[in-house]
Amino acid sequence: MASEEYYEKLSFPDAPKIVTKTIPGPQTRALLEKELSNETPTRIAPIGIPIAWEEASGATFKDPDGNVFIDLSSGVAVNNVGHSHPEIVEVIKNECGRLMHTPDGTCKNRQRLGAMLAEAAPGNLKNNVRMAYGLSGSSANEIAIKFARASTGKSIILGFQGAYHGSIGTTLTLTTSPTFRSLYRPFMPFVERLGPYPYCYRCPYDLTHPECDLQCAKYVEFQLTDPYGGIDVGDVAAVILEPMQGEGGYVPPPPGWMEYMYNLFNRLGILIIDDEVQMGMGRTGTLFAVENFGVEPDIITMGKALGGDLPFSAVLCRADLVKDLEPFSHVLTAAGNSMSCAVACKNLELIQDGLLDRSKEMGAYAKGRLKELAKEREVIGDVRGMGWGIAIELVCNKTTKQPLSMAEVVRIVWHLRDKGVYVLPCGRFDNILRMVPPLMISKDLVDKSIDIIADVLETADMARYSLNWTMGS
Ligand code: PLP
Repeated sequence: MASEEYYEKLSFPDAPKIVTKTIPGPQTRALLEKELSNETPTRIAPIGIPIAWEEASGATFKDPDGNVFIDLSSGVAVNNVGHSHPEIVEVIKNECGRLMHTPDGTCKNRQRLGAMLAEAAPGNLKNNVRMAYGLSGSSANEIAIKFARASTGKSIILGFQGAYHGSIGTTLTLTTSPTFRSLYRPFMPFVERLGPYPYCYRCPYDLTHPECDLQCAKYVEFQLTDPYGGIDVGDVAAVILEPMQGEGGYVPPPPGWMEYMYNLFNRLGILIIDDEVQMGMGRTGTLFAVENFGVEPDIITMGKALGGDLPFSAVLCRADLVKDLEPFSHVLTAAGNSMSCAVACKNLELIQDGLLDRSKEMGAYAKGRLKELAKEREVIGDVRGMGWGIAIELVCNKTTKQPLSMAEVVRIVWHLRDKGVYVLPCGRFDNILRMVPPLMISKDLVDKSIDIIADVLETADMARYSLNWTMGS
């Protein structure tokens, strides 16, 4: 494992550093305004958290005005090895002058990546998978669903309440956030919803684990086994689920739940697609988050941090399911291009070389500090997570657990930004600060970030939030 000093040097040395009187500063503001007149307003940027990116290194980035931020988002769980890691930059430099686009064709980097993923696959999938590649998490999940349906000859896909699986096609139907889906009806008729996915802090049964005896798991069983349950189980091809819900609020399932679900789906002959797009690549302390539960999916999807600085995704399918699918029946023009595969190989190497342990250790350290902080701040209702995937759930009142309003969360997120800490909220009520930094973040930056979070969440500050805030004022 590399030294602390090595990890420190990967980030800008002076982070966080704010040099403009207001944020966004003049150059950033000009850029944001120009972009608003040029693009559709459908993205979260630039309105949600007004900020722009100029240069990034490790766990830090600069805006066009020279302000330096600590990135607690990892570019939405993408930069697990850090932004512009020197070894990734080296690979890109070497590869780009040699070979980049390979039209879903054969090349050495693609084969090297396939071998590495097959070797890394958990449990009985190890060296027992066939690969397909995509360009995003959504496309990996679309491919997984296509293959599950083709290999079973069945049509129904099951998804969970609280899930996020993508923003196009079938994955949009599987995604549950009204913000992302409501405008884009109608949805796919072959998707059925299971639930609840366990969210112990807000248990719909108002029970506590383990006394609850996993009522939520039992209800899912009831949905699938009650003859009038409304789901034609005989025509279910697969279920897709996250090993810990990400966009839904960094919600880790309680002990026993995942095992219960996997047993149930196996018993009913339903294929299991494990969506590791956000939680894979070491986020939870293991390469695949599902390894935390000792269960074995049939298909795994990966995205985000697999490609890291380059957009890329992969689907690992149990070999017997897909090895006889019709030749030429699935292609994506740019899938598995040589350069992205080379970068993905390097990302895997870097993650496996010390970052899994670091994710566990530094994540546990941060969670410990945040749990202590929660005792002192009324606004923190819950701190939870696995490895370096941590949720700080904000509430108006610890007893009622009423979620802090989105407006107040936005003010907190902007205030953090103004102090040089970039955080992306998530969750059913948009009231969760997700702390998902690059896994290589130095301890010094972790401490600085938590000190700033503590400061911003201080009760005295909360009064300030009720004053009128406007963009950059
Ligand atoms: N699956 C999960 C679990 C995700 O968190 C996301 C994105 O956040 C996706 C799929 C979709 O990935 P992408 O935005 O790359 O299409």
